[in-house]
Amino acid sequence: MTDIEKDGRSKGLPISISGVSKVYDTSDGPLLALDEISLDIKAGEFLSIVGPSGCGKSTLLMLISGLIKSTTGEIKIADTVVKNPYTDIGFVFQQDFLMDWRTVLDNILLPIEIKKLGPAEKYRERAFELLDMVGLAGFENRYPYELSGGMRQRVSICRALITSPPLLLMDEPFGALDSLTREQMTADLVKIWQKNCNTLLFITHNIYEAVFLADRVLVMSKRPGKVLYKKELVDLKRPRDLSIQDTPEFQKHASEIRQTFVKEGILK
Ligand code: ADP
Repeated sequence: MTDIEKDGRSKGLPISISGVSKVYDTSDGPLLALDEISLDIKAGEFLSIVGPSGCGKSTLLMLISGLIKSTTGEIKIADTVVKNPYTDIGFVFQQDFLMDWRTVLDNILLPIEIKKLGPAEKYRERAFELLDMVGLAGFENRYPYELSGGMRQRVSICRALITSPPLLLMDEPFGALDSLTREQMTADLVKIWQKNCNTLLFITHNIYEAVFLADRVLVMSKRPGKVLYKKELVDLKRPRDLSIQDTPEFQKHASEIRQTFVKEGILK
């Protein structure tokens, strides 16, 4: 049962991952993508996941969302063992998957139609509130092709949040953006998360982005993906702004994560 605060926002749900492995059947035989992952994620936690390409980060998110099944182990969201696609979830990918023939508002309201959550009219106010939150107030009647890459990704975040899901899964959401837009989006995402309070799992290749955003960073090994290291960032006080990246504490965390990759031969 989703824990809803008075204002209708979800507080997020805890996730428990125990002994999860994933083997894919490929034309070259079985491929072990993830190896015995165990991890507890707190309700409302912001967890960044960093690791080399192909180490199973996306696989982990797909397993949590129930879109694919694990080979061994178990995943629980709150008290529910994930066996089928878990629908109360927001997903944001590197590609925004907006429909160019629908307005911004109609793109944001799409999950309401798909999940048959009643008249979309009921969610218009929430959609406007989300657009305002991401700095796109007044863009509701524009079409995605009229927007920049960063604006499109902001719309896809609104679409993911329209149902106030307790879990938000983001798979390299800023990977296709130029570096200045990416930095601004990162700063804005912290504020968005603080207003929405969901449990947020965020995949990135960027160590600085991972540290800036998260309560904790999960560092993964080369394939088969294992947990190499978990880095708590509680000493990086919130609210954080971009200047925190210049502090010695921030640099120390980033450097420790980089060293983990150096030790593993992932970075030289
Ligand atoms: P990451 O997100 O860390 O880049 P992925 O989870 O996408 O890694 O993939 C992990 C490994 O599993 C890769 O070697 C990838 O090629 C393989 N893989 C992913 N999905 C499938 C699939 N559906 N079938 C076969 N192999 C897959």
